[in-house]
Amino acid sequence: MYVDTDGVVIRQVKTGDGRRMLLLFTRQYGKISAGTSINERGKNKSALAIRPFTYGHYDIFKGRNYFSLNGAEVKNSFYKIGEDVDKFMLASQMLEFTDKLLPEGEPNERIFDTLVDFFRMLAERKSKHETLSSAYQFRALKFAGLEPQLSACAVCGKKLQGGAGAGYAYFSVKEGGLLCEECAAEAKKAAGSAKNLIYKVSFDIIDILRYFMNNPLEKLKSVGLEEDKQKEVSRILSAYIGYHLGIEDIMSKDIYNLLKESN
Ligand SMILES: [Zn+2]
Repeated sequence: MYVDTDGVVIRQVKTGDGRRMLLLFTRQYGKISAGTSINERGKNKSALAIRPFTYGHYDIFKGRNYFSLNGAEVKNSFYKIGEDVDKFMLASQMLEFTDKLLPEGEPNERIFDTLVDFFRMLAERKSKHETLSSAYQFRALKFAGLEPQLSACAVCGKKLQGGAGAGYAYFSVKEGGLLCEECAAEAKKAAGSAKNLIYKVSFDIIDILRYFMNNPLEKLKSVGLEEDKQKEVSRILSAYIGYHLGIEDIMSKDIYNLLKESN
């Protein structure tokens, strides 16, 4: 059966015999692997559409147990991402994160559209790129059904609203969200000398996390977090993603070191 769909290339590997295997995140079929004889060094329009960070339209043959890519066309190449090493690194990390987040063959249009928004905005962005990637990750976690609980204690359910002068709460990576003072103390006691992955977080930061989760990326267009706030957000996010998706290895070294210091 011949089908066509919008998609983003997550990665490609050569499989010998002049063919490649593409891992595509498609709007219609979710994450799929598709074999192809299209070569990215070629000069035709299909070749351009299998490069990294490209948003394209793909003509696919859908077999019973496999996909095969027959043709492709670029919708947006986001070439500016490839021209800036920081943007390139960050976009690569976000692709890896997205890959880990998505099960094979399950469409998720909201994550797909948010990823394309992320690429488009990153390509044009002048500074504070990490604010955008953190926001993308929170949105994607939410759309994958893995959002952290940020309005009430994840253990006892007590409302934790915050507001002016509200101080702080605790974020438990393992419990998947905020903890009240009492439950945090219990959890720390239960963990003993083992890593408890509980962070004391001010409501300033919690409000940022809530904002990221509940607003489209478009709202972040001219927003950049101050350095210390960004570090705090990245620290929590990396620990959360590392624990729930098992991808500590894609964290930047700075963030990794920060995490180690805090435990
Ligand atoms: Zn509680």
